[in-house]
Parts: sequence; structure tokens; C-alpha cells
Amino acid sequence: MAITTARTIAVLKGGEWLIKDTDADAVFTPERLTTEHRLIAQTTEAFVDDQVLPQLDRLEQKEWTLSRELLKRCGELGLLGADVAEAYGGLGLDKVASMVVSERMARAASFGSTFGAQANLCALPLMLFGTEQQKQKYLPKLTTGELVGAYCLSEPGSGSDALGAKTRATKQADSGFVLNGEKMWITNGGFADVFIVFAKVDGEQFTAFIVERAFKGVSSGKEEHKMGLHGSSTTPVILQDVRVPPGNLLGEVGKGHKVAFNVLNFGRFKLGAMCSGGAQGAIGEAARYAAQRKQFGQPIASFGAIKHKLGEMAVRVYALEALLYRTAGMIDARVDATPHDLNDGSAALAAFEEFAIEASIAKVVGSEVLEFVLDENVQIHGGNGFVHDYPAERHYRDARVNRIFEGTNEINRLLIPGMLARRAAKGDVGVIAAAKALQDELMGPSSMPAADGALLAEEARAVQSYKKAALMVFGTAMQTYGLKLADQQEVLMHLADMLMDIFAAESAVLRATAASAQQAPRASLHLDAARVFVNDAALHIDASARQALGAMVEGDALRTLIAALRRMIKVTPINTAALRRRLADETVTLGRYIFG
Ligand SMILES: Cc1cc2nc3c(=O)[nH]c(=O)nc-3n(C[C@H](O)[C@H](O)[C@H](O)COP(=O)(O)OP(=O)(O)OC[C@H]3O[C@@H](n4cnc5c(N)ncnc54)[C@H](O)[C@@H]3O)c2cc1C
Repeated sequence: MAITTARTIAVLKGGEWLIKDTDADAVFTPERLTTEHRLIAQTTEAFVDDQVLPQLDRLEQKEWTLSRELLKRCGELGLLGADVAEAYGGLGLDKVASMVVSERMARAASFGSTFGAQANLCALPLMLFGTEQQKQKYLPKLTTGELVGAYCLSEPGSGSDALGAKTRATKQADSGFVLNGEKMWITNGGFADVFIVFAKVDGEQFTAFIVERAFKGVSSGKEEHKMGLHGSSTTPVILQDVRVPPGNLLGEVGKGHKVAFNVLNFGRFKLGAMCSGGAQGAIGEAARYAAQRKQFGQPIASFGAIKHKLGEMAVRVYALEALLYRTAGMIDARVDATPHDLNDGSAALAAFEEFAIEASIAKVVGSEVLEFVLDENVQIHGGNGFVHDYPAERHYRDARVNRIFEGTNEINRLLIPGMLARRAAKGDVGVIAAAKALQDELMGPSSMPAADGALLAEEARAVQSYKKAALMVFGTAMQTYGLKLADQQEVLMHLADMLMDIFAAESAVLRATAASAQQAPRASLHLDAARVFVNDAALHIDASARQALGAMVEGDALRTLIAALRRMIKVTPINTAALRRRLADETVTLGRYIFG
């Protein structure tokens, strides 16, 4: 079954949204899912509801035979093969479909991890980098769930610094390798059959290998006692004189970083989608609890403080979804625009590389929105949020790791402006020219265009002004530090925060504009959500810009830049309390996330 997304999506370069405008009808949104996308979403949801959630206790007791059975069930339903070509037993679906599966799998977070390690971290590198023989050998069995996969990058001494791995691969006379080392925190480590392992050939060339548990010398360490995700296996994987045949080299010697980082690019994007799915489920739990829990003679959902929380949850998840679907649409449009053979992953690979900035944004925004929602879910549940009897407590613990794995949020925050700066320096994205043009504009009279009275015109104008503020800070940073910008982590973090807010705010405005034009259900609530997000983004962006500028310049130069910032970010506050109340009331009436 091949799914193709409606292809009117603009083919932008990664990061180009900062300097280019996009039409609302040229972005992909959740409202534009095809019937086939919706069917695969329903299949995944039904699988999680009927077959995973009722068995969570058994998974938390570490019954890994059950995890294997559930993976096989996923295989029968086609859920493991979204990114795998039909020639290797998969469905070869578009990336929107593959994202939708991850999103819906997430309400069972532990099993979501098991699933992610299999489909995203083991099958995907084989699809992208495997030889024909390797794909024929491993992919059909990974796609049915007959084989379980894992991804072994981290080590006790190298997590964020993945290229600092100590695991060694020694070349043999027969062109094979002998691997020695210890991998750490490996998801599915306790029961996987196939491992994508990274090791340094002769201690220097970082390289990927396909290692089978059946190879002599492969063993798993003890299960980690984790804060959350108790239903997912996490162990060390020990490699002691493991002979790996020449045919199990994945990609080229010395090119392991290409495998590792590209897999992480897409993995990060999917993690963002999983976080969105988890957050949507929790909004429903919070709303239903708030409707039935009475204090002072009335449901707690009637209190403004609780409405604020429910409304804000909806707003943040709305913007997260908007940026995720927009990115998935851009990836698919890029793949479609590249002539390619369906059995070869190179077009997808190029697209993942192109949208690496957006993937990091999806990961950081997704994990932080999820954490906000789950924290408020506990709060709305009061004492019941702190005890095992309600799922709010488990969700809270399960989610914490999302800010740590697939590249910590600090590493991803550094990557967002870092990658943009590198692309700008190479001339791939015209950020430097745009920053220079802005400098000239700032010398002249104030020139922010007035809003034209169209729907969300004020918000669209505000987003333009946020982009200018980011360009001003970015330009100042590049001028001040040049190639040494990478050493200024505090400035980069502030820039990352600005860029994330801008991408999310613009995506929310585009989604709401499109929903309104399509007369989507609850179109007026789409507008409410976008308005609140854009309003609040002004506060964060202004604060980040001031912090960054204050760290870089002083005296008159600083005063001039702050005055320009004040002229740019002139956003008249709106009544967000009323808008959040409307969103909260509808959430409580429906008992679920209203835009899902
Ligand atoms: C449940 C779980 C499952 C996992 N599954 C897998 C898996 O399947 N496969 C796999 O390979 N790995 C897996 N991991 C490992 C995970 O990817 C790493 O934990 C993660 O990359 C962080 O590495 P670290 O723990 O060594 O932290 P460190 O790298 O030591 O980081 C510690 C702190 O320092 C910060 N820091 C580090 N470097 C910098 C820097 N240059 N600048 C600024 N700040 C910095 C980090 O952001 C963090 O806050 C898993 C981890 C967990 C907990």
C-alpha cells in the first residue's frame, strides 16, 4: 500500500523558513491527512488500546516474551514496515505515515521505546545504508518482528560525545573484524537479536557494523533500574572478541558518523511525534479527571486556574503538531522531488540531512511540551497524581528520558543555530544576506508593515517581526564571534529558543489559517490556539533576544540594538485568558485533545 501526501507542499531548504514566507496552502497539516493515513493511525491506536495498554503490568514485570509477541503483532499489522521498501517486506509509506504510527504508538511509552528501537534505530539504518544482500537478509525478518533489533552507539564514557567511542574493531586477514568493547543503555538490549554497533576500526575510524546475538562473544549486562519506562529493556551490551564477517560492515569504514547522525536525525523527528502523541493522550486524562473531581461543591474544571492549564496544554500541543506535520510534509516533498529507486534509501537520506535543524527542533519542543503537559496532568490530579493508581504518575516518570536520549536537549539546542550558521557560511541558506539587509533597514525609518486585516494578519505580522529579531541576534553573533560562535553556548541556547518559538509560531499560524480556509471542524478554536501561542512567543523571544544581546555587546551599541528590538516586537497583548477558557471548555466537553 503506497500512500502519497497531497503534493502541493513547498520544497524549501532546511532552515529557509527563517528568511522566506510560506503560504498556508503550501504546508502539510494534520487536517490534510489522507484516508490511508487516517486508517494507519486508527490501526495503531486500536493496537495500543486493545493489545498493549491492558498488558502494561506484564511489560513492567519485564516479560520480554510479551514484548516480542507484541512486536510480531505490529509486524502482522504492517506497523514495523512503514519506512521499509516493499521489496524487503515493508510498506514503503511516506514519512507522514511513518510519523503518524510513532505518534499513535506513544500512549504506551515503554512499548513505544521498544518499537522505536526496532523500527527507527535498527531497520532504518539497514534500509538507508545496507547492501542489497544485507537488506534481503535482515529487513524482512525485522519487519515481521521475527527478529528484534537494537542500536548500540552510547558507551559508559561516551554519550553526547558519540564519536569518542572506545569500542574497537580490529581488521582481520579475511577482511572481517573482531569487536571488543561495552555499549551502554541499549534499548531492547536484554532480548534483541540484531544490533547496529558502532566501533573504531583499529582504534581510529568510526564505523557501523551489523552484529548478531548469535555471534560468539555477544552478551547483555543486567537490566538498568530506571526512573521510568519500566516496560522497556535497557542494558549494557558487551562485545568480547566478537568475530564479525566482512559482509556485516554497514556502510563504509570511517563513515559510521553518517549512519549514526542520519539515523538520529530521523529518530529525533519521530521522538518529537511520539511526545506529541503522549501529550495528546494526557490532555484527555486531565480533562476527564477535571470534569469529575469536585471540590468546594463544583468540578475543578470550572475553576479558572484549571482552565488556564487545560487551555495552555492545548495551545502548546497545537503548535507542536503544526511544526511536526509541516516538517513531515517538507521531507516528503523533498523525497518526491528527487528522482529515486524505491528500494534505495538515498532520497530519504538526503531529505533527513536537509531537515536536520527541524528534526532537532521537533525533539526539543516535543520533549519539553510533553513534560509541561504531564507535569500539569499530575497537578490537576492533585494527590491522585502522585500515586500509582492513576496513570499520571507513570507518564511523568516515563517522559523524563525524552530530554536525555536521541541527543540531549542541550546538544540539540546547540545544533539548531550551529547548523544554521554552518549553512549560512556555506551560502546554502541566505541568512547572512538577510541579516545584512536587516542592518540597512534598521538604519532607516521604522518599516514594519501594518497588518492588512486578513485572518490572523496581526499574528502573521508578529511572526515576521520575531524573524527579524532572530536575524538581528544571529547577525550580531556571527559578526561578534565569527567561527568562534560555537564556543558561545549561552548565546547559542538563546538563539535556539528564539528559532524554536518562531518555527512553532509560524507553523501554528499557517495551520490555523489553512484550517479556517478549509472550514475544518472547530476552525475558530484553531485561531484561538494560534493567537495565544503567537502572543506568548513575543514574551519569550523578547527575553531571549535581550539575554543574548546583553551577553554580546554593551554601552551605546547595546542600547541601539535594544531600541531596535523594542520597535520590532511591538505586539499588543490580547485576552489570552478568554481564549484559553474557550479551549479548555471544549476540551472538557469532548474529554480529549480537541484537535486530534
Ligand atoms: C532509557 C534510555 C535508553 C537509551 N537507549 C539508547 C539506545 O538504544 N542506544 C544508544 O546508543 N544509547 C541509548 N541511550 C543513551 C543516551 O543516548 C545517552 O544517555 C545520551 O546520549 C546522553 O549521554 P550521557 O548519558 O553520556 O550524558 P553526557 O553526555 O555525559 O551528558 C551529561 C550532561 O552534560 C551535557 N553535555 C554533554 N556534552 C555537552 C556539550 N558539548 N555542551 C554542553 N553540554 C553538554 C548534556 O546535555 C547533559 O546535560 C539511552 C539512554 C537511556 C536513559
